[in-house]
Amino acid sequence: MQTKNNNGPLAVDVAVVGSGGAGLAAALEARRTGASVAIIDKADSLGGATMLSGGGCLIAGSPLQEKQGIHDSPELAYEDWVRWGEGEADQDWARYYIEQSVREIYFWLERLGVEWLTLLPQEGNRVPRWHRPRDHGKEIATVLIRAVEDSGAQIFPSTQVLRLLRSDGRVCGLEASRNGETLEIHSKTLVLATGGFASNLGMVLEHRPELKGSRILLGGGPDATGEGHALARALGAKFTHMGEVWFYAYATPDYRDPGGKRGMVFRLRADYLWVNQQGRRFHDESLCGGSTATPALLKQSPRHAWSILDAQTAAILEIADPYYRSGATVNREHIQELLDHSPYVRKADTLEELARKMETDVPAFLATIERHNRALAGGLEREPEFGKPLANSKKIEVPPYYAIEIFPLARKNFGGVKTDLRCHMLDEGLRPIAGIYAAGELCGMAGGHINGKAGLEGTMLGPSLFSGRVAGAWAAQEAGFGAGFQGEGKSIQGLTHTET
Ligand SMILES: Cc1cc2nc3c(=O)[nH]c(=O)nc-3n(C[C@H](O)[C@H](O)[C@H](O)COP(=O)(O)OP(=O)(O)OC[C@H]3O[C@@H](n4cnc5c(N)ncnc54)[C@H](O)[C@@H]3O)c2cc1C
Repeated sequence: MQTKNNNGPLAVDVAVVGSGGAGLAAALEARRTGASVAIIDKADSLGGATMLSGGGCLIAGSPLQEKQGIHDSPELAYEDWVRWGEGEADQDWARYYIEQSVREIYFWLERLGVEWLTLLPQEGNRVPRWHRPRDHGKEIATVLIRAVEDSGAQIFPSTQVLRLLRSDGRVCGLEASRNGETLEIHSKTLVLATGGFASNLGMVLEHRPELKGSRILLGGGPDATGEGHALARALGAKFTHMGEVWFYAYATPDYRDPGGKRGMVFRLRADYLWVNQQGRRFHDESLCGGSTATPALLKQSPRHAWSILDAQTAAILEIADPYYRSGATVNREHIQELLDHSPYVRKADTLEELARKMETDVPAFLATIERHNRALAGGLEREPEFGKPLANSKKIEVPPYYAIEIFPLARKNFGGVKTDLRCHMLDEGLRPIAGIYAAGELCGMAGGHINGKAGLEGTMLGPSLFSGRVAGAWAAQEAGFGAGFQGEGKSIQGLTHTET
């Protein structure tokens, strides 16, 4: 296995940078071939954004769908995927992922110990295909970490990769900083899986300059700061679709963040009710996804809004942040703490007082709430203004009332480093760069732009895990181990893909 020279650098067959879903999957796949593997992460613990994630994966045609009487197929999912991505999805990668999703994500994770529990509908999908494990992304990350630990891979937490080493045009290792010391690891091949850049405001605005001057919250994994992008750029990698940042509208600033930049998305198990600063609704809030709600929010002046809750809806509020939720376990005390103390939340015993605290137009706001409550009392199927179906809406009628200030939040990157279908990193001329593979959100989840302009949801984590597996297997093959990605049996050989 791995060898450490007495005073020299560590030498392994495959080095993996990043221990989120993509890096963990790559390490596992490479170890499976017998290659020696080192996995390196700058964070103190493994798991990256994957550990914090909702854990939802798009899977088409699973046993869980069948059990619930949902008829799905890769063909149906592919049509939805390409249409939703507005023609910008990498169709080869999309097809590759969707066709393998049952075998290589659903069954693969099940065998590792994941229990698929929930199936939810998401915008743009004709049938529910968003599969979530019992304990969300924490469950997926935990089983993968355990498997990597058991596999004998060498694990280097708290180790920040600063430079990739090259010799005769080949990537041959890395230089990292660990506890203030420099660590050099030589490798025959390397997988870069450092995640996205949605937590780097400078990069988000560089690629979305029209948002300069607006308040944009950061909501990627805390370490999704684009360091891997800089490492890849230094090698001359090709980048694509970098402006396709996926923003959510239902996010409020994390008032506990000393930098004041991070945000948190919050969810209700009911429809939202949003008003703009003028006290008026502006959107059908049942469509709360990145390609519907976010553009509507960005059209408001100023570019923020308020989510209105009463005591009943506040009781079903959930916040996707480790302080408020660990896996599936919600910390109600912490949520109440936010409702009571965040400067971005207003609280009042009457709606009139709430409107005054929001500094909105009081009569317009009261009329908005009145219309909402009247539509529900009248038993309407849809409210007349924006056509929102009311089956999942609740009246605003039980004090105390809350208004949570919402801003667009950058969550995920749908563009990044371009790769072929073996996850080989490509250069500007679309030629493979020898010795290096790339996977996960660094590559817009897979290949460079597997989603295109919009994602059906579950299309970030699933493809990140999948591209991680593909990258790990082919990196091992180039290092002299195994036969490339064979998944759970069938060999998937001879795939090349170089067009932009
Ligand atoms: C709160 C939240 C909820 C989400 N929920 C869902 C969901 O339900 N479904 C879905 O499809 N997607 C979801 N996503 C997106 C999804 O989780 C990510 O796209 C996916 O996990 C990315 O995996 P990754 O391995 O590419 O990157 P990450 O998981 O971000 O891992 C990258 C790792 O690289 C490390 N790293 C970075 N730079 C360096 C360096 N220089 N040296 C060493 N290490 C480095 C980081 O520390 C990190 O651990 C969610 C994201 C967030 C933030």
